[in-house]
Amino acid sequence: MINPFKEALPIIKKIEEAGYEAYFVGGAVRDYLLNIQINDIDIASSATPEEIKAIFPHTIDVGIAHGTVMVIWNQDTYEITTFRTESTYLDYRRPEQVFFVRELKEDLKRRDFTINAMAMDKNGQIIDYFNGEDALKKKEIKTVGNPNERFQEDALRMMRGIRFVSTLGFQVEMETLKGIVDNQQLLSKIAVERITAEFEKLLQGRWCSDALEIMIETKLYRFLPMLESAEKAISQLAKLHLTKLELPEKWAVLLLCLGVKDKQQIELFLRAWKLSVKQIKTVQKIIYWILQREQMSTWSRQALYFATLSIAVSAEKIYHLLWNQDICSDISSLEEQYRKLPIKSKEELAISGNDLLRWTEKRPGPWIKDVLSLVESKVVEQKLPNDKQLIKEWLQRCHQI
Ligand code: ATP
Ligand code: MG
Repeated sequence: MINPFKEALPIIKKIEEAGYEAYFVGGAVRDYLLNIQINDIDIASSATPEEIKAIFPHTIDVGIAHGTVMVIWNQDTYEITTFRTESTYLDYRRPEQVFFVRELKEDLKRRDFTINAMAMDKNGQIIDYFNGEDALKKKEIKTVGNPNERFQEDALRMMRGIRFVSTLGFQVEMETLKGIVDNQQLLSKIAVERITAEFEKLLQGRWCSDALEIMIETKLYRFLPMLESAEKAISQLAKLHLTKLELPEKWAVLLLCLGVKDKQQIELFLRAWKLSVKQIKTVQKIIYWILQREQMSTWSRQALYFATLSIAVSAEKIYHLLWNQDICSDISSLEEQYRKLPIKSKEELAISGNDLLRWTEKRPGPWIKDVLSLVESKVVEQKLPNDKQLIKEWLQRCHQI
């Protein structure tokens, strides 16, 4: 058994000592069998949340209604979820009611795909009621049970299926694929935040291009925010080597494929996906500087300074990706150029507004900002040294003060 599981073994043992069952479940078991990096360890147990809380001294209620308790153990946290089934689903969203059950099989049955419906006991024994291991061998994403029923219970599973294509490089099994085609419109019932979380995982997967192709093939893209008629843009995106890009850069490339370059339009689009203001601002800046980059043969000191290094690097990577089909640009020379800038921000300027007031008889006003901006530009362009006395003399010479 590998480390992350070993560390959590005492938890399983303690639950068992108290007379209940406990297993590792879901993504961690799948990733362990695939011998790839495990993200988070989920534990499922026959004990109810209250029973779990009685066993462990330190717990946090993270989702009691859904049966999840977080246990703090040796400075690590583990989510323990009571075996459950989900009753009738309202509006194709989330289960109306969760029923706790005592059988592992019932819990595994409600899981989305066979590769995600395996459990592992404390001895490393795999419990696989739905041929998950077989699907792993075939590299196949297949719903547990009838795809139509499973997608009608929770339409997000269609998105999840395609995102596993992207992260695992698997194929969607034929019946499951047909299920997506037949139920695509149900995705519109799903909360945008849940769609965004899966879409971002899709964008970050190694096989993102394959997943985007399936988005088109199944026409599921038509039910993604603002992408109703984006077939061309998505196939363009699928043809690019996105793997070397960071997430905000991928959003920027998607927007450029759609021809969305205007600041307000970018905001409208990303708001529809419920991205944070901070994320939106980053994407806006990246796109702004890509457009600037198209006008420049190379980065001037001024441009690099105002863009900041991280945005300039993003813009440069994307500029090359779009024009040279690959990211071959020399990022290290950009870094070197940035390192050589005389100042990196206004705060590093040798003078301040107070200096200007002391040197003149003038009253405070907008002129201070204008003069500081002028000095900032001159210093960045290395037309003026960043030295208090020399700046003062220069300002006096050109009658700015
Ligand atoms: P990742 O490695 O990206 O976290 P994961 O499979 O662990 O992938 P999670 O979203 O963390 O995905 O979900 C944990 C497990 O819960 C899944 O493996 C699956 O068994 C189950 N699950 C998650 N979402 C659903 C859903 N919408 N319907 C049914 N089962 C689900
Ligand atoms: Mg997980």
